[in-house]
Order: sequence, then C-alpha cells, then structure tokens
Amino acid sequence: MFTFSSIREYHKALLTGSISCRETVSLYLERINRFSHLNAFIAVYAEEALSAADRLDQERKSGCQSGKLHGVVIGIKDVLCYRDHPVTASSKILEGFNPLYNATAVEWLLNQGAIIIGHLNCDEFAMGSSNENSVYGRVKNALNYDLVPGGSSGGSAVAVQAGLCMISLGSDTGGSVRQPADFCGVVGLKPTYGRVSRYGLIAYASSFDQIGIFGTNIPDVALVLEVISGFDGRDSTSSRQTVPEYSRGIQEPASIYRIAVLKEAMEHPSLDPEIREQLSRFTEQLKAAGHLVEEISFDLLDFIVPAYYVLTTAEASSNLSRFDGVRYGTRTADPEAGYPGFYRKTRSEGFGKEVKRRILLGTFVLSSGYYEAYFTRAQQVRKILTDRTRLIFNQFDIILTPTVPTTAFRAGEKMTDPVAMYLADLYTVYANLVGIPGISLPLFQHSNGMPFGIQAMTNRFQELSLLRFSKELMQQYKSYETPTL
Ligand code: GLN
Repeated sequence: MFTFSSIREYHKALLTGSISCRETVSLYLERINRFSHLNAFIAVYAEEALSAADRLDQERKSGCQSGKLHGVVIGIKDVLCYRDHPVTASSKILEGFNPLYNATAVEWLLNQGAIIIGHLNCDEFAMGSSNENSVYGRVKNALNYDLVPGGSSGGSAVAVQAGLCMISLGSDTGGSVRQPADFCGVVGLKPTYGRVSRYGLIAYASSFDQIGIFGTNIPDVALVLEVISGFDGRDSTSSRQTVPEYSRGIQEPASIYRIAVLKEAMEHPSLDPEIREQLSRFTEQLKAAGHLVEEISFDLLDFIVPAYYVLTTAEASSNLSRFDGVRYGTRTADPEAGYPGFYRKTRSEGFGKEVKRRILLGTFVLSSGYYEAYFTRAQQVRKILTDRTRLIFNQFDIILTPTVPTTAFRAGEKMTDPVAMYLADLYTVYANLVGIPGISLPLFQHSNGMPFGIQAMTNRFQELSLLRFSKELMQQYKSYETPTL
C-alpha cells in the first residue's frame, strides 16, 4: 500500500513503477471521500485530476517525465483562481463566480506537472483564525473534531494533516498559514512579501497578503517554494530577486545560527505555561548544540495586533468595495431593491458578519476625523517595527517565538469575542507587518494531546537559510509523533 512520505520518495516509486499517478490520485480521492466530514474541501476535481494523472503516466511511459512536481497532488485554498473553476473566498457574495485566468502560483504549479485536486475551505475572504467564518460551515481538526483547525486556511491545513493531498497552498495575511499549521501539526511557510506573485489571489489586505505552503516536511515545502517564487509582470509587488534552488540549497550541511528569542513573547501572559516551558527547554537544547541563543527585549509586542487590525481592515474596506453585485458573483434577488439600493442589499446579503465588521472598522479608521488617530499611527508603528527588525537582523540570523499562544481551541469558544480571537494572532502578524518570511514547525506535543509549533523568522528573502534551519530542527528536535489517520 502506498503511503506518502515525501515528493522525492513518491517520484522514486513512480519511476520504479510501483505506483502510477492514476493509482495515487484514486487513493487520494478515496480518502477525500472518507474524510468528507472534516469539511476541508469545498470542490473536488476528480475527473480532471484522473485525466491529468493519465496524461502524466503516459508521459512517463514514453520516457519524458517532465516537471519538478510531476504528479504531485495539491489542494488550493478557495481564494486562488484556477481557470474555469468557481472560486468564492468561502463567501456567498462570490457564488457562481468563475475566474477567467489562473493565479500565477497555480499556473506555475501546473507547468511543473502538479495535479490540482480541489479547492479548500477557509474563512470568508481569509478573515479569521478558526475557519468558522465560512459560508460552507466550519472545518474540523482531524485530531479532535470538537476543536478548530485554525484559520483562515483551515481547509488547507487539514487537507495535509489528514493526508487528503500531498501539499496545499494557503494565503497568509497575518498568520493564516502558520497558525493552522501549528494547530494541525504540519509545516506552514509564509514567504517574504513579494517572493510569490499575488496575481490571481483574491485580495484581503494587499500590503500584507502572501501565498504560503503547507506540507509534511521541509524538502517538499522547499521544492514547491522554488516553483511558485519569482518575478511576475502581472504583480508589480513581486520581487526581481533571483530565486535560489531551495530544494538543492537545503541539502548543504547545517551551520551554527545566531538566534534571537523575543523575551516579551516568551513572557506574555496569554502564553500557555506548558508551551512556555517546553519552548524554554528547547532553546536550552539549541544552546547546548552550539547555537548562539540570546533572549532580547522586544517591547513593541503589544502594539502589533492593534496596528495589524487597523491597517488590514483599512485595506480590506477598499479591496472589498469591488464586490458590489455588478462585476462579480451574486446580486440580490430582491426586485424592489432598485438603484442604488441593490448595492446595499447585495452586500448586506452577501457578506458574513466578520467581513462586515472589518469593512466597517476599516472605513472608520480611514474616515477624515479618525485617520490621523488610527491609520497614521498604525503606519508609524509599522515603520518603527521595520526599523527595529533591521537592527535585530544586523545581529541575528533567526528570530524564534511561539507560533500561537495556545493549542487548538474549541469550536465556538471565541466566536462571540472577536478581540479574544484577534489576540490569538499575537505572534504571527509581526512577520506580515514587516514583510519577512516565517515558518511554523510541528515539533512539540502538549499534555492535552495536541501538537504545537515553533515559529522561526529570518530577514527578507532569506528563505534558504530559514528552510535549512527548519530542516535541521525537524530532523533533530521533532518530538511530536504525527499520527496515522
Ligand atoms: N487571523 C488573522 C485575521 O483574521 C489572519 C488572517 C490571514 O492571515 N488571512 O486577519
């Protein structure tokens, strides 16, 4: 029986003929079916995936196996455009919308022989931390159905967690890849802002959004990053920096790293005491292994969640104004609505509660009387954070923090308290505010049985060093045993 361990092993199995792409896709389809109660997928492209598999099997038979991701089975978050496949951002307002083009990341996956198996559930317009704000209903954590998988890319995390695909793409505006990766016990990478083109990614907060990757191991994540990174003329914020061969680069021997641990992050009152204790023990181990580990003061921590929510809601209020019932998706069916009432009616009916809350908050912080008090000040915080980050990376290679203050929480627990929900983003939004890459590594297990991760960040465009470091950590220090589901 084929069990997936890594893309490399899968490719070996394909070459020896012990498995075919068709058999692989069939196995995944069968699992997706078996685990449909997790609600991770909102659309499965079974026929297409099977015929892509046949085409690839044929290619291999004729001796021309092409593509770094030949036959790799990938799920994509429902905010990524895949030509002629409905995309809705898990919102009623986009019901029936069919994109006319592929997101660049999706296109580049396909060019390398990947098989897109379906679209994955998420929080509406990627706003949330628990995947409970979805028109398709909540996603369940495969380890305990009463718990949330995290969000907003909850479906993407669970799809990898439960072995429903090999790799998935999510988006990360404030932690939406790293936080669900932490809650589900998988690897989640958010690259540097500008590393991966955002063309074809439905915008939430454009100066924060970045496509991220979920996987079970570092070499797979490195390979996928290598494929989707690079300059794209259709996204003016995508970077022209050359893309290293991450998959090869990570094979070089590990080095000694200068690691900064943020003191205020480790001492924060919201941090679960057991997570604190295990992470402290872990940093001692790193020291013992010869790394230079230093606890540094980071007194800006309490400003980052407020700054994030001011700036992202401001950007969201502008980005989401395009959903007006004229250009995309659904329009109110009420014939009485008239003009301009149908705008209001369409938006009232089409957006969920959290999205409305954020549009209102965003227009408020941008309104003339409050602009200086909120938006401008939050921009100032962003600038101060960026300057401080530069100073830290003058002295250190890596910043380490917990990924999330707690393990996965119960469904419904934070739905009536948005501020409590927002505070769960304490450690992740920093990387988006300053545009640096961050990864969550599933190294630990809590006594409550759930996994939790550690977050590592490097300076901008230092993904290679981040991945190399991560690979070493996963090899040396992973105490979380991934269960077979
Ligand atoms: N939880 C954060 C929010 O609700 C992050 C979302 C994201 O990264 N898309 O905004």
